[in-house]
Amino acid sequence: MDYLAERTKLIDSSGIRKVFAMAAQLDDPINFSIGQPDFDVPDAIKEAAIEAIRKGFNKYSQTAGQEVVVSRLKAKTTAEYGWDNPQLMITDGVSGALLLAFMALINPGDEVIIADPYFVIYKHVISMLGGKCVYINTYPDFRLPAEKIEAAISDKTKLIILNSPANPTGVVYTEAEIREIVEVARKHDIIIMSDEIYEEFSYDGKAVSVGSYYDKSLILKGFSKSYAMTGWRLGYATVSERLGPLLEKMLMIQQYTFVCAPTPFQMAIMTALDEDITSYVDNYRVKRDRMLEGLGKCFEITKPGGAFYMFIKTPDKYPNATEFVKKAIENNLLIIPGNVFSEQDTHFRLGYVATDEKIEQGIDILCGLAK
Ligand code: PLP
Repeated sequence: MDYLAERTKLIDSSGIRKVFAMAAQLDDPINFSIGQPDFDVPDAIKEAAIEAIRKGFNKYSQTAGQEVVVSRLKAKTTAEYGWDNPQLMITDGVSGALLLAFMALINPGDEVIIADPYFVIYKHVISMLGGKCVYINTYPDFRLPAEKIEAAISDKTKLIILNSPANPTGVVYTEAEIREIVEVARKHDIIIMSDEIYEEFSYDGKAVSVGSYYDKSLILKGFSKSYAMTGWRLGYATVSERLGPLLEKMLMIQQYTFVCAPTPFQMAIMTALDEDITSYVDNYRVKRDRMLEGLGKCFEITKPGGAFYMFIKTPDKYPNATEFVKKAIENNLLIIPGNVFSEQDTHFRLGYVATDEKIEQGIDILCGLAK
């Protein structure tokens, strides 16, 4: 296999692949491994996409996206952050934006500060580009105190990544925490990249964004989760004028890679932005509360404030999370071992995007395994 590029050796997906291979053997499992909503795209948004196709929005769009949609998202950004002239581009999901941003920012040897547990893409793409992830261990409560960030900063630090509400922990940072992190970033003049794909799924108050406090933030937002359109591949990246050159370079890289985000789906964003998704969010809040109540009796759990995940400590009688997950799968229940999202294998990720009936069955199985 010496024909393969060196960078392919820098990434590994064996952990999660093993889980999915075992899962493929199961017939109608209780599936808590899923990272996407279980509702479908709201009808009005589907109609808008179909209408856009019928009307002929089927060609390449401009690299940054359809002008009318970009303008609307810029206005939204100005309203949210008070940025006068935000620079903005529509991307192929937040995943697309992450690749563009890392390619535009990371030189080999550059350090990126990341909370551990983390969303998997950060680690692997940064590693592929020769960057170095500097992990901040946030166990057991998954909070990210500014002092820990400051202690991790070196003269090679290029970027701090925030993800709130977070995958896999569900942690939502408070306004005070965000402000303190911004102070540290400002003092050391470091860009913050903020992945806000779960911003709508914040159950105990609105999620706070660094964008309101720091004009050296790169904000990434998505549509995949809020409107259950993970297959439509839509997100956007925005910066204040101050970071304009960064967005220009991301656009240039998009021009030579993704070219643009899918044009008809871009048009449907106009309808999506008018859609009220409160009832979907309320529904997941109820599921979170039920999970906490049911599993709280058998596991040590840090209450998650958002997204649709919990990151739960594996009972002590198991040597590690991978062994616990194997047992769960033998009992027809799918969850993901913590080492997929972390440098340690002590917890498991559970997603509560399931019917109430499956949630009750899942609670019984998990509590049975913990006993
Ligand atoms: N960021 C986080 C934290 C996620 O959990 C995900 C998806 O699971 C993404 C980004 C990527 O989402 P997409 O590329 O569908 O917008």
